Amino acid sequence: MTRDLSYYCRKFAKLNVSRSSGVAPNKPILLLSIIELISQGQIRQNQITLSAELIATFLNLWSNLEPVRQPNIGLPFFHLRGDGFWYHYPKPGFELLINSHVKIRTVSALQQTVEYAYLDQELFELLWNPDSRATLTGILISTWFSDKTQQIEQLLQVDAFQEIQERLRSQGGKVYQPEELEDEQTSIVRDAAFRKIVISVYEYRCALCGLQILNSLGQNIVDGAHIKPFSQFYDDRINNGLSLCKNHHWAFDRFWFTLNDNYTIVVADDLREDSPHATPIRAFQNQSIILPAHEQYYPRQDTLEWHRQAFFERVA
Ligand SMILES: [Zn+2]
Repeated sequence: MTRDLSYYCRKFAKLNVSRSSGVAPNKPILLLSIIELISQGQIRQNQITLSAELIATFLNLWSNLEPVRQPNIGLPFFHLRGDGFWYHYPKPGFELLINSHVKIRTVSALQQTVEYAYLDQELFELLWNPDSRATLTGILISTWFSDKTQQIEQLLQVDAFQEIQERLRSQGGKVYQPEELEDEQTSIVRDAAFRKIVISVYEYRCALCGLQILNSLGQNIVDGAHIKPFSQFYDDRINNGLSLCKNHHWAFDRFWFTLNDNYTIVVADDLREDSPHATPIRAFQNQSIILPAHEQYYPRQDTLEWHRQAFFERVA
């Protein structure tokens, strides 16, 4: 059978969904979420990961369309494999597991074992084209949400992850209560939002060495690091963040360097370093870090104090 637009229209209208207690909307909502990210240009390749963007979009649609069941994006991300156009590309070492009949349905288990999911290339190309994308979106909405057509059209104009970031940024970030962190999916979104805001206020540059690399997909090489560890303090305020390249993030978390209250750098004196092609870490001693443009995002004094104390305990 030709895998053309009418073929996938039939597929989308006949998704194999659970009907044990009413139609479960998992698969249509996942597909709508993916289509939304494709139309926003956030998914540009036929490699679909369980990203914070995808989870946030899915949760936003779910909370507006499904009043009863709890969301779990892991379910459709796994079970869509039964519909004949969705496949998993395994992470190295998990090939046998992915090709077996084992059901992997939690976000963390999927993230550990699946590199990405991919669609039939024919389907991906149809979703990439605005006209056929509109047709397939229309089929999903009219088949699965015929009573909520207008509501969905409004929802699909919202960039859910962007909205979460903007809300968080306007509050300067947030300190969480432990009970707010129980849901795995919202925790992934929370963490990614914090990190994205932190690296953006530092303009995607390492605060220590100044390294900035961006590619055409908008990817970059820095991490949004917590100064006081999130696992102890649940502190996602932006001024508990620091943008660091991979090496300097690793070194900062192990207290190989710390910062004075005037943001100058203190390097441990027990490091033996040979760095023929990059500036050695010792060369940053007494220099100031690169600070964000806005003072409200400078590292907060109590976070630096906490980090310095741990640094001096390590070297003592
Ligand atoms: Zn660096």
